[in-house]
Amino acid sequence: MTMQTVGRPTRPEGAAESAGFQSLTGGRGLLQDEPLIFELGGWTKSGVDLPPVSEDASDLDGLTRASVDLPGLSEPETMRHYVRLSQKNHAIDLALYPLGSCTMKHNPRLNEKAARMAGFADLHPLAPLATAQGALELMDRLAHWLKTLTGMPAVALTPKAGAHGELCGLLCIKAAHEAAGQAHRRTVLVPTSAHGTNPATAAFVGYNVTEIAQTPDGRVDLADLAAKLGPDVAAIMVTNPNTCGLFERDIIEISKLTHAAGAYFYCDGANFNAIVGRVRPGDLGVDAMHINLHKTFSTPHGGGGPGAGPVVLSAALAPFAPAPWVVHGPDGLTLLEEPAQDATQAFGRMSAFQGQMGMFVRAYAYMRSHGADGLRQVAEDAVLNANYIKARLSDVMSPAFPDGPCMHEALFDDSWLEGTGVTTLDFAKAMIDEGFHPMTMYFPLVVHGAMLIEPTETESKRELDRFCDALRALAAAAQAGDGERFKDAPHLAPLRRLDETLAARKPKLSWKQGAALA
Ligand SMILES: *Cc1c(COP(=O)(O)O)cnc(C)c1O
Repeated sequence: MTMQTVGRPTRPEGAAESAGFQSLTGGRGLLQDEPLIFELGGWTKSGVDLPPVSEDASDLDGLTRASVDLPGLSEPETMRHYVRLSQKNHAIDLALYPLGSCTMKHNPRLNEKAARMAGFADLHPLAPLATAQGALELMDRLAHWLKTLTGMPAVALTPKAGAHGELCGLLCIKAAHEAAGQAHRRTVLVPTSAHGTNPATAAFVGYNVTEIAQTPDGRVDLADLAAKLGPDVAAIMVTNPNTCGLFERDIIEISKLTHAAGAYFYCDGANFNAIVGRVRPGDLGVDAMHINLHKTFSTPHGGGGPGAGPVVLSAALAPFAPAPWVVHGPDGLTLLEEPAQDATQAFGRMSAFQGQMGMFVRAYAYMRSHGADGLRQVAEDAVLNANYIKARLSDVMSPAFPDGPCMHEALFDDSWLEGTGVTTLDFAKAMIDEGFHPMTMYFPLVVHGAMLIEPTETESKRELDRFCDALRALAAAAQAGDGERFKDAPHLAPLRRLDETLAARKPKLSWKQGAALA
């Protein structure tokens, strides 16, 4: 075994020497270097005692393999490997995670406790429904609160992420148009600031995507929308609050124009965290909207758990919702699985079983522990925190839309960096050296060098001040021409500036014995 004696350095070149320290093992301090699990363990070793292999002649006609090259490690070695890897990952449980649009929320432990209850955690998706009444009741109640909070009459629980929810919503819209003899509607209108999943989903469903222009103050351009709405348009996809962190003031007008043109209004609800308990999308004329349980309703994501993207639907689209859904039968709760009863027009299914049950439990626990007033306060605090950051940074950085307050995220452009030689990327990477995870960079695309900061409502003023102080100090360094601090940053992370383009374009997804990974 060669634990800690192989592998890549955990320190940037030169850092160890300058501290007068020479690591023999690749670890430093108590932070251990970590090779791949294949480099740690060999196939000749096993974490369990297996009986000796019998010497009988194999039936495999010479196809027997001498090795399957699985990494063999003892249980403690395996445990340490994964705990070390977890220490190299940024997490909401470690520090502020200001990724705009992604809504990285604290995951309350109460939710985790509920999700681990055996009746939920150990339930098989094919268990007889008579033995799963509690789980069905939870799904039914979750559906009830999602419908109540959005003011929409139906919800499809099964989509497994926001993007999957978009697909579900557009498939409902497609089915509704087909049922009404409107299959010739082939275009979906999407604002220029939209999240990439919106046009991607529309294209995936087979629609043509047309962009709607944005006004100088970051909203949908109504005149451009009106000009592009026509008999070929199936739907619009609008995010509210939009990805510039701004409320679409003309949302009612947008929905009226859309419906008058015979199209449906798909709302990207990923930003529901900013308005939950304050605004019901159903009152705004929305026909379909996905809700990221892993954003608004605090279920873990970003490496911590699977997503869940239930889609609420208007009365017009409800008949086309995918199966299954929970119905109250004479013998208790049951699942409507087949195109029968209310589901004769269901467009199909979004997943093999009932959706992300563990996330349903967490989201429901979150709703019930907050209550209606608590959820409203979530939205209010999210908006307050973002505006605090906007106010504290606007004199040193340039807000993309300086006029008026923002919603749950503060958006800056890079005009304030002009002439400093420092880019948005340099600035974001230098934040890592200060102990802060960067904000979302270069999105939305309509803002040059965008820096989108979403501070989560659970962050305290003290933490927000620490964050703002660090950014103000970095901004001052950039203005003072301290280019070294930014060039090649991060300087203190285990790995320095990575070639992310190359990593995305030519990912190395396989491992070969002895092959260099550099
Ligand atoms: C996160 C997000 C999505 C996609 O959600 P996933 O769960 O990541 O698929 C779509 N739109 C917006 C605005 C988002 O922030």
